[in-house]
Amino acid sequence: MKIAETIKAVRDLVGAACEQNKKIGLVPTMGALHIGHISLVERAVKECGFVVVSIYVNPTQFGPGEDFEKYPRPLEQDLEICKKEGVDVVFNPSTDEMYSAENLTWVDVEKLTEPLCGQLRPGHFRGVTTVCAKLFNIVAPDVAYFGHKDAQQSIVIRRMVADLNMPLEIVVCPTVREADGLAVSSRNKYLTEQQRKDATFIYKSLQKCREMVDSGVTDVDKIIEKMRKILNEPNSMQVEYVSIVGAQTLEQMEKICGKVLAAVAVKIGNARLIDNILMDTSKD
Ligand code: AMP
Repeated sequence: MKIAETIKAVRDLVGAACEQNKKIGLVPTMGALHIGHISLVERAVKECGFVVVSIYVNPTQFGPGEDFEKYPRPLEQDLEICKKEGVDVVFNPSTDEMYSAENLTWVDVEKLTEPLCGQLRPGHFRGVTTVCAKLFNIVAPDVAYFGHKDAQQSIVIRRMVADLNMPLEIVVCPTVREADGLAVSSRNKYLTEQQRKDATFIYKSLQKCREMVDSGVTDVDKIIEKMRKILNEPNSMQVEYVSIVGAQTLEQMEKICGKVLAAVAVKIGNARLIDNILMDTSKD
């Protein structure tokens, strides 16, 4: 496995793989790799002849007062994981390498970035789409792999790729969960033992939502009220949003219909955690 710290180095390595007609897969990450990331890497390794994992904590997607500085960066451990998984190149650039001091260009996807996390983290998605556009231009992958855990992110990136005619496929992989349902996240590390227990109420609220939808409840307000009640059970939890939106448009809905995304964001202590489930009621 090679480690590339510069754009030129990763381009040379990918270029050589392209000459051998290998399918190039990219898994963009911020490191602190866990089984959620590994599921994306495994899929990439299975489907592509040459896999690049980028490890880069992108400053432009963090807002003031967010956890950019203290975001975990266990690089040696991450490299071990990538090696074991059969990754060909880890791209681990510095911020000087990624952003020139004269940078004036940003990629901004409208509308889809307004609700949910967009409302609470102004500028977050601009940072995400800009860094992903840069990574796609640098690595030129045939396929890039994202997790459904960050559902809004993958919807926004799909839109960007379609709108800007970027020649790659976006694959979205299922959310990997702990045995008790908590979505695996690098930020779970911030939780104390009690907060970790409290965090299970996030998935419990989403399960309740699925249960109500499955039993034919269509009144969104009623479902959200029940979900909030569950989320408010542990004292440590501060609910940022509980939303039920159209899975393609991310627009609020009053009645459950078609493909629906239920999404939750909470703060527990120092951690901001998000989770969601997708429900397809059009099949009923
Ligand atoms: P991050 O390092 O948090 O930026 O995440 C990198 C990629 O891994 C993103 O596409 C995430 O959606 C994905 N990811 C993070 N956690 C999980 C999880 N629990 N299951 C599946 N994918 C995940």
